[in-house]
Amino acid sequence: MAASALLPWHVEHWQRIQAQVAANRLPHALLFAGPTGLGKRLFANRLMDLRLCADNDGSVDACGVCANCLLRKAETHPDRFELMPEDGSDQIKIDQVRTMVDWAYQTAQRGKGKYVLIAPAEVLNIQSANALLKCLEEPPSGTHFVLIADTPGQLIPTIRSRCSTMFFRPPPTDAAMSWLESQTEYQPEHEVLLKIAGGAPLAVEAMINAGYLETRACVLNLFSVLRDGGSPVSAASVVVKQMPETVIGIMVSLILDLVRLVRGDIEIRHVDVTSDLAPLSRGIPEAQWFLLLDYLIECRALLASGANPNAQLMMEGICTRTAEALA
Ligand SMILES: [Zn+2]
Repeated sequence: MAASALLPWHVEHWQRIQAQVAANRLPHALLFAGPTGLGKRLFANRLMDLRLCADNDGSVDACGVCANCLLRKAETHPDRFELMPEDGSDQIKIDQVRTMVDWAYQTAQRGKGKYVLIAPAEVLNIQSANALLKCLEEPPSGTHFVLIADTPGQLIPTIRSRCSTMFFRPPPTDAAMSWLESQTEYQPEHEVLLKIAGGAPLAVEAMINAGYLETRACVLNLFSVLRDGGSPVSAASVVVKQMPETVIGIMVSLILDLVRLVRGDIEIRHVDVTSDLAPLSRGIPEAQWFLLLDYLIECRALLASGANPNAQLMMEGICTRTAEALA
C-alpha cells in the first residue's frame, strides 16, 4: 500500500518511529498521548502489525497474507497482547496485568518480538499500574509496550517517566478540512463539527455517524424547555430516545461553552448556536454549571462501568439537576 495510506497528521510521527526502528532503537515502552479522534490506536496497530509481519517490504502496512498476519487477523497471534477493560469493568485490573506479565517474560513464538497494547492506559487502577511499573522497570527482552492515553496526566508519573512519549496534536484546520473532504462529500456541518471536536478529524466522522447535530438540537430544546419551567420528567421522556452517552457528551460540551460565555471567553466551540447559548448563560454563576458537570460525569462513569442503569431514571435525574442549574 502506498505511503499515502497514512493519515496526513501521522506522517511525521511515523517517520520518527521508522528511524528508531532502522537504528534498532525502538523504545521498549511507547506512550501515544493526545486528544481522542486523532487515530492514536490506528497508529499503534499499524506499527505493531508491521513489526509482527513476516514479510514487510518497507511499506507502511503489514502484508496481510503471511502466517503472522493471518494469526493477527484471527486475533490469535501468540506474540501480541492487548490490555483493556474487560467484563463491563471501567478499569484494567491487576489480574489482567499479572497474566500479561507472565506472558511477557516468555520467549516470542514467531521470532518477531512481542507487543503489548495498553489502551486506554488511564484506566489502569493503582495496583495494576504498580504491577505494570515493575515490568517496565525490568523490561523483558524483545517485548515492546505501547500505551495509549487521551489524558496522560492521569497516569502515575513513574509510568510516564518509563515511557517514551509521542504527542499527537490536531492538524491545522485547513489540513483537517481537506482530509475530511477527501473522505466524504463536503457538507457545511463538517466545519462546525470539527470546531466542536477541538480539531480532531476522526471525531467528526464518529459524530456524523452518531447523528450528533440532531441530538444536539434535541438537547438545546431540552435546555430551553427546562429554563422555561417545563417538567423534568416529561423532558426526560423526550430525550431518553437518544443514546444516553451521546446526550451526556453533548451536554458536557455545551456546558463548557456556557462557562466560556459566562467568562467572556471568545473561544466558543458551538459557534453555530451561540445565539441559543447566550440567553442560557445569562445570570447563572459558574459554580452552578460545575455542579451539573460533576453530576453528568458521574452518570457517564456509571454508563461506562457497564452497570446498565435505568435510562429513564438517569435522564430524569439529569433533567432535574439541569432545571435546578437553570433556575
Ligand atoms: Zn504479513
